[in-house]
Amino acid sequence: MTKLSNSLGAADIATALHPYTNARRHEEAGPMVMRRGDGVRVEDAQGKTYIEALAGLWSVAVGFSEPRLVEAARRQMEALPYYHSFAHKAHEPAIRLGEKLVEMTPEGLDRVFFTNSGSEANDTVVKMVWYMNNALGRPEKKKFLARTKGYHGITVASGSLTGLPANHRDFDLPVIPVTHLTCPHHYRFGRDGESEADFTARLLAEAEEVIEREGPETIAAFIGEPLMAAGGVMPPPEGYWPGIEALCRKHDILLVSDEVICGFGRLGSPFGCTHYGFTPDIMVTSKQLTSSYMPLAAVIFSEKIYDAIADNSAKIGTFGHGFTGSGHPVATAVGLENLAIIEERDLMGNAARMGARLQEGLRRFAGHELVGEVRGTGLIAGLELVRDKATRESFDPVGKVGTLAFEIAHEEGMVIRNVGDTLALCPPLIVTEADVDEIVARMGRILDRTLEKVK
Ligand code: PLP
Repeated sequence: MTKLSNSLGAADIATALHPYTNARRHEEAGPMVMRRGDGVRVEDAQGKTYIEALAGLWSVAVGFSEPRLVEAARRQMEALPYYHSFAHKAHEPAIRLGEKLVEMTPEGLDRVFFTNSGSEANDTVVKMVWYMNNALGRPEKKKFLARTKGYHGITVASGSLTGLPANHRDFDLPVIPVTHLTCPHHYRFGRDGESEADFTARLLAEAEEVIEREGPETIAAFIGEPLMAAGGVMPPPEGYWPGIEALCRKHDILLVSDEVICGFGRLGSPFGCTHYGFTPDIMVTSKQLTSSYMPLAAVIFSEKIYDAIADNSAKIGTFGHGFTGSGHPVATAVGLENLAIIEERDLMGNAARMGARLQEGLRRFAGHELVGEVRGTGLIAGLELVRDKATRESFDPVGKVGTLAFEIAHEEGMVIRNVGDTLALCPPLIVTEADVDEIVARMGRILDRTLEKVK
């Protein structure tokens, strides 16, 4: 047996299996151990500071040192550190946060179910929709429509909805009935000479063709991220969402907006669906809900769905679904305080203002030899690196140059994420003008240094 060393790195190598990590490479490279956060910055165990330009995992809205969230957690820990919501039990933080979410989200989203993670929330959506359709006497209406490169989590059902090869390969997924439609990213999936409007029309025709081929009576729901984030920061083409919404209404298909990243101001609008002009039947939120200080996700849905589920629970005796941590009191107390801070400090407005500055700053790199496309809106952006700007040819293998840039970013004191060869940025909503300018300046150096190495 490997002995535990007193060095953190050695202990990590000896004992951990890291998520989303090449384990054998990790044994050689070791972990990057973080020990402290301050505003938009984090510090590693060697004392080096970094701008956290991905807000952790696209999630820390209020920055890494918000004392009010610490205090909210402490107060709740003292009063009632744990309780659940099974079998009619309740507690104030979950009730108040549920009420707040109903108030904040668009009209028609009136009921809330809490989980611990975005993946659990999307599994919950699948199960709620199946339960509902069984209750409504249409047991054949069970299939989901999702998109290639969509990200909805990694549990067995949510991982099936996800449309990324790494989440399926060797995990025997997908296992639920799901069709992945074409990724709505014009730069990569548009055909030669195809306008954005024609691309949108083609995607909508494809969706309708699939619905008609499979039969609308077999399709339960369409799920999508308003802006596809983890798959590579891809805003939808103009007109896409209103078109998808119309198709869903026409064929009686529920529309699920997975706002785990887009929710609570990320795009400079309150929600992704408000940004792109559609109204979902179900919204999934997490991450910025608590700034990820505590694990929490919320499924917010219509009264119509609630009624069908409620009737069935009365008929069969229960809605047999829920987690020990559903609506955890400390997590929901932190969520309430976090949303209060977002509102009081107008962090959604800040995201719109700072987002405009970030997008403008990054678009200066559109002419850079390595950059094929600069994309994004609000405080989320992606720069796709290519071998040949004119032909859009990617590097071979995809991801090698992105990983190089990701490592150079660390040297430059910035944490980013590379999704293949797309460099993703998603800083905390509290960023200032100076922070944004620094992020853009460092990104310039990262691109130049990466170019030097690949030339
Ligand atoms: N949905 C979306 C849109 C996400 O971006 C993520 C995580 O990045 C998830 C779901 C899964 O959330 P979790 O990692 O909390 O399970």
